[in-house]
Parts: sequence; C-alpha cells; structure tokens
Amino acid sequence: MIKYFGNVGVALGTEVIRGIVLKEMPKGETSKQIIVLAKGLGKVWITAKGARKQKSKLLAGTQLFCYCDFQVYESKKYYYVDQIDMIESFFDLRLDIDKLSQAFYIVDLVEKTAFMGIEQDNILLLLLKTMQILSKGKCPPTLVSRIFEMKFLQTAGVMPDLTEKCCICGKEAKQYFHVAAGGMVCNEHIAGSRKLSTGAKNAMTFVFSHDIKSAFQFSVSTEVMKELYKVLEEYIAIHINMQLQTRDFNRKIDI
Ligand SMILES: [Zn+2]
Repeated sequence: MIKYFGNVGVALGTEVIRGIVLKEMPKGETSKQIIVLAKGLGKVWITAKGARKQKSKLLAGTQLFCYCDFQVYESKKYYYVDQIDMIESFFDLRLDIDKLSQAFYIVDLVEKTAFMGIEQDNILLLLLKTMQILSKGKCPPTLVSRIFEMKFLQTAGVMPDLTEKCCICGKEAKQYFHVAAGGMVCNEHIAGSRKLSTGAKNAMTFVFSHDIKSAFQFSVSTEVMKELYKVLEEYIAIHINMQLQTRDFNRKIDI
C-alpha cells in the first residue's frame, strides 16, 4: 500500500507539488533537474539545488520513480524544491533488471507524451498503479508493460475497437485487425490488416473492459505475449506516434 501523509506544513511563499519523478538530469556541478508528473498540474520541471551531493536532503526523493510531496517555491517561472516528503520510492524496482527495464520504458512513454502544465491525473493514477503491480511482482514484468500500454491508449482516448464489426463497413469481422484503421475488419477489407489470435483478442478485450485494479489479473502464453508486443508496437507507432528505444531494449532482454 502507498502511504499517504497528512497535510504537510508549508512555509510561506512555497507550495506542495505531489507527483512522481519521470526523468532526472544533472544540472551544473552538484544540482539536478527533474521532470515530475504532478497531481493537478501535468508535467512540471523542478530544479533541486545541490541534490547530487552525498549528504543532500534532496538526494533520495529526486531519483527516478520516486513519488513524493515536493515543497517548492517559484522564481522567474521555475520551480525550486527545498524539502521532500517521500510517499513511495518503488525501491524494489531497482533490485530486478526485468522490472527495472520495464519501469524505464513505462516512465519514458509517459514523459514523452505528457503535457506541460495540463492536468493528467488519470495517467498519474494509471502510472502509480502500474508501478505498484510491477514492484510487487504480482504480474510478469513484460505483461505489466503491455497492460499499461493498453490502459494508456484507453485513457488517452485512442483504444482500438475490438467489437466484431468491420470498422470500415460494419459487416461481421472476427479475425482480422487493421492497426491503422484502429479496429477489426471484414474479409473485404483485410488489405493491410493482420490476423489476431483469439488469445490476443481476449487479452485485449479483458484489459479494456476492466478497471485499473483488476486489469492486471490474468496471464497469457508466450505466443500471445509476442503477438501483443507486435500489435501494440504498431498501434502505438501509428496512433500516438511513438517508437521508443527503451521498449526495444526490453525486447532484447525479454523475448
Ligand atoms: Zn468491411
């Protein structure tokens, strides 16, 4: 369970930003710049002065994946953090290369698609739930990423239509999936489509019809996993215009 602290005492002139670190970058000799997906704010940049010093009180909470309350002050349109209350570090992710590589990919996808300054709390919730599942090891890491991708597409409003009607003409469509058209197609419209196995179709339908809490509660064969990997790769490339090296890295070590 994620622990939630109560109201944090906030010094005058400061505010508290609650969010998860999506990216950390060195800044100057000893400082750090972090990108956080923040509750109510979307993606924000925060500077942590001296955070790379071994004794810095900002060292732990500014690391990748950390979910924290950042006490910040604003100066010339930039946020600076001066105190951090850790809510969840997801430290377990760092102890397992399979979990870690999937976590890298998941935050990379969010970081590259999230908007600056626009609330995306549904994506934040999905990300936190996914990190919890991945961290606890209740679902194979590769499958966690595929389920995350499907829920991400659904949350972003670009999920595929898997109903058994051709998405072009409306006739019966049971086997062929057209990635670019975003749905199933009939025998007359199979050009450019791919056959979708029953296992892959059932897995996708399960994820799209369950909420985040129960969407991770199933397993698939290695064959279906490979199929989902390929279908979702093509779908994400076309519908959200993303082809990330961090995803490819996962394929090299997992499949
Ligand atoms: Zn058709």
